Amino acid sequence: MGNSLIFLYGPPGSGKSSLGLALAQQLNRVFIDLDERIETFVGCSIIDIFNIQGEAAFRAIEKSVLKTVIQESSHAVIALGGGALLTEENRITVQAAGKVLCLTASYETLLSRLSVAKQKRPLLVDTPEESLRTLLKTRHQHYQSFTPLKIDGLDHSQLLENAQRHLGLFHVSGMGTGYDILISPGLLHQVGEICLEKDLKGPIVVVSDTNVAAHYRELLLDGLHRSGYQTSFVELPPGEQYKNIDTLQSLWQAFLEVGLERNSTVLALGGGVISDLAGFAAATFKRGVSWIVCPTTLLAMVDAGLGGKTGIDLPQGKNLIGAFHAPQLVIVDPDCLDTLPDEEVRNGMGEVIKHGIIDDPALFNLCRGNWQEQLTKIVIAAMAVKINIICQDPLEKDRRAVLNLGHTVGHALEVASGFQLKHGEAIGVGLLAETKIAEQIGVAYTQELSASICEVLFHIGLPTRIPAEIDLDEVIQLIQQDKKRAGGVVRFALPLEIGKAEIGYQVDPSLVHKVLTQLQTKHILKEKGIR
Ligand code: ADP
Ligand code: ZN
Repeated sequence: MGNSLIFLYGPPGSGKSSLGLALAQQLNRVFIDLDERIETFVGCSIIDIFNIQGEAAFRAIEKSVLKTVIQESSHAVIALGGGALLTEENRITVQAAGKVLCLTASYETLLSRLSVAKQKRPLLVDTPEESLRTLLKTRHQHYQSFTPLKIDGLDHSQLLENAQRHLGLFHVSGMGTGYDILISPGLLHQVGEICLEKDLKGPIVVVSDTNVAAHYRELLLDGLHRSGYQTSFVELPPGEQYKNIDTLQSLWQAFLEVGLERNSTVLALGGGVISDLAGFAAATFKRGVSWIVCPTTLLAMVDAGLGGKTGIDLPQGKNLIGAFHAPQLVIVDPDCLDTLPDEEVRNGMGEVIKHGIIDDPALFNLCRGNWQEQLTKIVIAAMAVKINIICQDPLEKDRRAVLNLGHTVGHALEVASGFQLKHGEAIGVGLLAETKIAEQIGVAYTQELSASICEVLFHIGLPTRIPAEIDLDEVIQLIQQDKKRAGGVVRFALPLEIGKAEIGYQVDPSLVHKVLTQLQTKHILKEKGIR
């Protein structure tokens, strides 16, 4: 399966051309309108072709122009005519060349759009109401067979966003030439083909850890070899304690030994530790080589694997050394989560909940339900939140700070616990603390916000209290140390409601202390009589 072409399909009036144009801009691709190409090729309008030569002749021309366009294009978004895939032959051609996004809408929506744009609808000229009804009836099953995206009630930006989610394809712009992010179950099998399509150069050096390699080494290498790549595979020991200068040096060494050149590619296969390490090694080796990421933990999929931050830890603290180095490509295969230990999945959910609170109430609701069964949907939604924010602020100048929600307190808790609390666990409690702060300084719209977040954390199986052995004075001190780094003031990101957070709040340390004490001694849900 190729990802290089995207075809927009659906009944007349479903907005294939306007969405196609917007999608092409968003994804940094060219836009092609097949009907326009046909008109140029024949030298008259579609309506005239229908009137003079008839539908059969039109379909023959359509088939041949479609073939030519596919041969001549790569990385394009192509809007098709509403009946272009009725023949099996065209359908096969198109599906071999890329992905089809089929749009559908109710009869009423389509009719209202068609009455605004009357031109170019050969099958709907005389009695549009009747003809549209018949057309939708006869083609209903056909359109349904493409798992269509329903457009009713979506405004322009929602449609654009939903289209990207439906395709499992996003593009981050603003960092160099930008890069694509692909998400779909089973993608790890196809990494070789995808690299070829992106014109990535070999040899490819895969960097992974021993746990991940045990599950995915063969699968990945098979695919890369099938596509003709020379490869080598570097296995590191698992765990954050190895995210240091010694491991980095061993990676540089390995790169030298396999003869990695400036135009070859590093592939990070693993969690956040691996993507940080491999990305930083790629950023620094010979002043920077290309790299791609295949995140295999939930945490890395929704956070660390996106955005081009790379780095290592120092004994004095985490991530103190690093660089922004945008990958060429991010490939997310949610099937990898099948082998991820449960506690690592829950760890990632801390970050997912954060993304729901920042920008996506529907995502937050997914977390309240049968979340284990919805992981692919959850991954896509959580990634979408982060990608939107990165695109607004690629180098973390302002808005991107909203992603620090839960982290000002969470980081300090993580450190004060001597890393007994995992990152996602600490962020969960950090979210609770910061939400209580938001309630107490009147930033939150209701006083119920912390209780609803607490319920979700509890539902997932994440901690909802600060462990008794954590020294709160130390936590406050650690938060103050952040302050030095930020030029004198700690600025919190705080939630206003589920789906909305703002940055830049200064909070009195005594209030932070009060809230932390509450979270260590009382239980929010018990207090509210919920559990
Ligand atoms: P992160 O920083 O993303 O939380 P790490 O890179 O520290 O994650 O990985 C957490 C642990 O999970 C490591 O022991 C790693 O080897 C293991 N791991 C990562 N991905 C998978 C996977 N898909 N299946 C099984 N184990 C995995
Ligand atoms: Zn985090």
